[in-house]
Amino acid sequence: MSSSALRVRTGLRPTRLEVDLAAVRANVGRLAALAGVDVCAVVKADGYGHGAVEVGRAALEAGARWLAVALVEEGIELREAGIDAPVLVLSEPPVAAVPELLQARLTPTAYREPFLAVLDAAGHERGAPVGVHLKLDTGMARVGVPPSDITERLGQAAAARWLAVEGLLTHLARADEPEVATTGQQLAAFGSALDDAAGLGLHPQWRHAANTAGALLHPASRYDLIRPGIGIYGLSPAAEVPASDHGLVPALRLVSEVSQAKWVPAGTPASYGHRWRAPEDGWLATVPIGYADGVPRALSNRAQVLLGGRRQPLVGSVTMDQLLVWCGDHEPAVGDAVVLLGPQGSQLIRVEEWAAAADTITYEIVTQLSARLPRIHRG
Ligand SMILES: *Cc1c(COP(=O)(O)O)cnc(C)c1O
Repeated sequence: MSSSALRVRTGLRPTRLEVDLAAVRANVGRLAALAGVDVCAVVKADGYGHGAVEVGRAALEAGARWLAVALVEEGIELREAGIDAPVLVLSEPPVAAVPELLQARLTPTAYREPFLAVLDAAGHERGAPVGVHLKLDTGMARVGVPPSDITERLGQAAAARWLAVEGLLTHLARADEPEVATTGQQLAAFGSALDDAAGLGLHPQWRHAANTAGALLHPASRYDLIRPGIGIYGLSPAAEVPASDHGLVPALRLVSEVSQAKWVPAGTPASYGHRWRAPEDGWLATVPIGYADGVPRALSNRAQVLLGGRRQPLVGSVTMDQLLVWCGDHEPAVGDAVVLLGPQGSQLIRVEEWAAAADTITYEIVTQLSARLPRIHRG
């Protein structure tokens, strides 16, 4: 399955997502320089909405050694686009997906006993060991070998003749909070598991633990490889960890145009539920983008857009396909450029601003940008 099959045609609609691949390359280079180790660029969920194939290629051009995805089908998409680099699947796929996983030369993350047994058997059958990254749960309780089973599972992996343990990894639950003690506790548990592994003769080339926040804030989590996702897109892992403080630049612009402009008298109610009324006589612009494109409905009356180089409020309910912008005295014209995210003139609207207004995180904003938006890659 290729997600590009879902992508709509470009050129029919003024609304589009522009992705600056030069920014992605700069961010990958910046993270690599900062951490001083190799980079596994995380391009799951269609590259956090930016386009997995294009971002993946850009990250590799910038020196990333690995790409990572969440799903086997996401890895297959990269292979079908001709990407040859190592691709890590970040969680165990269903056993039924193992033939496709191996066929596409994807590297599985593994942790459950039966899954390791299936991989070992597959390696035996083809007469070549299956490379695997073992994931240890050190305090997230989501996926990975639970703490109580780590010794036993390491033993199983070490004894399996047709498994090659190329990586050992863990994942941090609170890396974006510099002050909490749990990150240090997770890293200590990971360190002792690495010692156990060495005792069993396992010396994986790739030991890794750091997401973007780990790579930026916790040098001890960097090991041999960092796994940044949100940072390669130039976005902040949390409001308290601004990407811009670390020299990361946003890669995405979400742009449209005014599709209708009208003068309205003071008090005119607008959009579903009449949740807004014109504060005075003035100009109201319609923009053809809505929640079906990924503009959260929670931004109704709570965001701004750039029009004519000025910040203007998004007013009334965001609807499925359109939203309204109050322009006051400034008369807009059909075809005027509207920037929802990104720069226009000296102004800039950040994904972080939407995340705060919609009470969510940057990750959710960009992964909800829908397949209906044409993606245009530059640089
Ligand atoms: C998504 C993910 C990452 C990337 O996290 P960011 O916070 O986007 O940098 C890294 N590792 C694992 C296991 C993940 O699931």
